[in-house]
Amino acid sequence: MVTHENPDGDAIGSAIGLGEVLKVFGHEVKIIVPNAYPDFLKGFSSLIEIVVYERKRQRATNYLEEAEILICVDFNEPKRAARMKKKLIEYSKPMVLIDHHPNPSDFCDYVISEPHYSSTAELVYDVVSLMGLNHCLNHDAAEALFAGIMTDTGSFSHNISSPNTFLVVAKLIECGIDTEKIHNAIYHTFSVHRMKLLGHSLDKMEVFPEYRSAVIWLSLEELKKYSFQPGDIEGFVNYPLSINNIVFCALFMERKDHVKVSFRSKGNFPANEFARDHFSGGGHRNAAGGEIKIPLEEAVKKFTQLLKEYKHLLKETSI
Ligand code: 5GP
Ligand code: MN
Repeated sequence: MVTHENPDGDAIGSAIGLGEVLKVFGHEVKIIVPNAYPDFLKGFSSLIEIVVYERKRQRATNYLEEAEILICVDFNEPKRAARMKKKLIEYSKPMVLIDHHPNPSDFCDYVISEPHYSSTAELVYDVVSLMGLNHCLNHDAAEALFAGIMTDTGSFSHNISSPNTFLVVAKLIECGIDTEKIHNAIYHTFSVHRMKLLGHSLDKMEVFPEYRSAVIWLSLEELKKYSFQPGDIEGFVNYPLSINNIVFCALFMERKDHVKVSFRSKGNFPANEFARDHFSGGGHRNAAGGEIKIPLEEAVKKFTQLLKEYKHLLKETSI
């Protein structure tokens, strides 16, 4: 199984969840992630091996060669697998896609793409049920799928478009998982550096009330100062939306050779179209991302200038 770059709770949770089911069914399962993922996603009970491609390229390549089938979870275009993009495009054995992002690109043989699902994890549960494999869904699978749904919905606060999300969660809880423990392991394990970086990020946040928007940006130097670890800025982008009347925000993060951007919005403001049209990205309407190869300050400036063009749409956004 393969996930997208910078794997999040839904990517890891879906891969482990489906992986456990397939393992109980009798398959051998390996998970490959393009790059490192945060420690707060390493507390799952599952013993399925997760190989970081960037760090163990040969091992991952061997697994890809030995595998009979490759399942891509929580992304829908090879580009999202970053360094593994070429491997996916050239893969000669059957590929399955299970995902909930809009507009899948055509690179898998079997495509299960359901953009109205809250999370890939919720979709995995339904796929497993429809295949008649509920008897293979063990505690470790339930724990991982719960974490996937929880993280992609901001602890059940957004992206929930149907009662099915809660029906699935109810079924997962019936498997005997400790939901409070999972929540604490993911959300209440900040390092002191991470908490201070959050304080710093909020302190330098710039708010544009006339555009109902806000922006945060972090340079490599700042990240170094706060001993940045993978996953440390996870969730930071959501904070500006807690301000009254803010409907759109962005977080810019300087990387070695590009700037990574995360966008969040409320209501009908299409963050994914904004990301696609100006930052080579995409995603969901209310949670999207992209990247750009210009200096950090210029990228932030580009964003703030663009807000003018969107003034009307931002003003009209109903929440
Ligand atoms: P995050 O801001 O949490 O990294 O990403 C939020 C969502 O935006 C992801 O679920 C994904 O759908 C989308 N996304 C993030 N970065 C990119 C990107 O570079 N390209 C595309 N197409 N989508 C992205
Ligand atoms: Mn997801």
